[in-house]
Amino acid sequence: EPQAPSHFIRNRIRKELEAGHCQQVITRFPPEPNGYLHLGHAKSIALNFSMGEEFGGHTNLRFDDTNPAKEEQRYIDAIKEDVRWLGYTWKHERHASDYFEQLYEWALYLIDHGLAYVDSQDADTIRQQRGTLTEPGTESPFRDRPPEESRDLFERMRAGEFADSAHVLRARIDMASGNINLRDPVIYRIRRLTHPRTGDQWCIYPSYDFAHGQSDAIEHVTHSLCTLEFEDHRPLYDWLLEHLPVPSRPIQIEFSRLNLDFTVLSKRRLTRLVDEGYVQGWDDPRLPTLAGIRRRGFTPQSIRQFCQEIGVTKADSIIPFGVLENALRNDLNESAPRTMAVLKPLKLVLTNFPEGETEWLEAAVHPQKLEMGTRQVAMTREIYIEADDFMEEAPKKFFRLKPGGEVRLRNAFIIRCDEVIKDEAGEVVELRCSLDPETRSGQPGADRKVKGTIHWVSAAHSVPAQVRLYDRLFQVPHPAGDKDKDFVEHINPESLVTLENARLEPAAAKARPGECFQFERLGYFVPDPDGTPERPVFNRAVTLRDTWAK
Ligand code: ATP
Ligand code: MG
Ligand code: MG
Repeated sequence: EPQAPSHFIRNRIRKELEAGHCQQVITRFPPEPNGYLHLGHAKSIALNFSMGEEFGGHTNLRFDDTNPAKEEQRYIDAIKEDVRWLGYTWKHERHASDYFEQLYEWALYLIDHGLAYVDSQDADTIRQQRGTLTEPGTESPFRDRPPEESRDLFERMRAGEFADSAHVLRARIDMASGNINLRDPVIYRIRRLTHPRTGDQWCIYPSYDFAHGQSDAIEHVTHSLCTLEFEDHRPLYDWLLEHLPVPSRPIQIEFSRLNLDFTVLSKRRLTRLVDEGYVQGWDDPRLPTLAGIRRRGFTPQSIRQFCQEIGVTKADSIIPFGVLENALRNDLNESAPRTMAVLKPLKLVLTNFPEGETEWLEAAVHPQKLEMGTRQVAMTREIYIEADDFMEEAPKKFFRLKPGGEVRLRNAFIIRCDEVIKDEAGEVVELRCSLDPETRSGQPGADRKVKGTIHWVSAAHSVPAQVRLYDRLFQVPHPAGDKDKDFVEHINPESLVTLENARLEPAAAKARPGECFQFERLGYFVPDPDGTPERPVFNRAVTLRDTWAK
């Protein structure tokens, strides 16, 4: 992979290593298993794994499973599949829930040292007392509860003696802090929820903030890389590590989230699209989930290349979707075999081609990479061309087929359109053409120039298929940024167009999931798992050119 310019995190780590502050770099990717991974996560995965790899360390996959309300095993499985697909290998699979016992011990440690207390007020009161950015918080009447009393209550919270909202455990930090996260944050709640891994073993669960840094420390993570919304949490992250007898001292570094235009990158919104049926599932090819773009035909290589290109900064920005698509084009242009497919067939009869015969023409698999070899393309008297490649009343600049006009059939010869056959409704249903035999490859007229070349397939040898064309899922660049409308109101009703009568060369029709072809002039296509050997289904991953560029 081409070397991208460095970024502030790599530079910082390099300096730390040079100064001897650390010997190796250990990172983690910490998804919450409450949905599928999306392209934003890919940015975080690429960053975490590349830092671990580059600096002689490793990366753990840690499920941040402290909120059993929305977490499910199927999400854990899907996340692992997606990280593997991107091409990364984690050293250890860990779960924050692996550390519940240790975290509980550390909560007791804070209590015993006067650094945490059980608050018996309700959630609303606690929230109100936290104050605002301009007003300091109000101390809880339970703030000076003796440690022995808090310990007793906390142990009984764990034992299941209290109702869910009866008590919480709070760190005792500073109710007047300018940083609201330091105003005695809640670090444990009673929640009678069955956890996907620990079942009903626990009825108290640690907060994200209490679990995250300590889990990092247990795993000897050196650099805890996260997105900018956690910048305000860093003082709390550091406070907890400073006051607890943890085995190592990780550093949190924040970077900006990936934003892409014409889509949404938030699990909450993606969950709505899936649950409310706007798309057909988490792997709908229109979604920016890794499962979705994989099904659409994106390659892991293109995603990693994209992540390198966009870099890592602290500046918020919105990346055009076309940047991602270009990364895919660059990858597939090199590797994808070429084939001809007709999406909207129009029948064409070559009147001077013998009936019932097949002529095998040789065509390059990749015209710029001859080492990829050749393929045999069947020519017959009846073929299909793209309906859009014929116009009866053509404007001057139309260089494809028109009555009386000539065009070259790709990989074959030049033909002339002699006759147009219409049905009763006046619709063109067939073209009668004659071929110029002198223009076959190897013949004296092979180099004769005509303005247009069109693709085609043999009627007898091609295979019928369904083809799905995708467009942006939203009609506006920032669907989630509209204060007056729910983002789902911006969904593009034409984001999926299904063509039922496409025709493919037989080799392409046999492709397996993950095998990508360039359908010449049309784009890059991959088989969809909905297809069967009898009825292939193809997705267009991307067009050949960026039709969205101005
Ligand atoms: P969402 O907002 O989509 O729910 P999240 O941050 O809640 O995302 P997590 O599963 O907690 O989802 O995220 C795992 C890791 O991926 C975190 O370190 C998070 O910062 C990072 N991450 C999530 N979204 C993005 C994004 N858009 N760009 C870069 N990193 C992201
Ligand atoms: Mg999160
Ligand atoms: Mg989240």
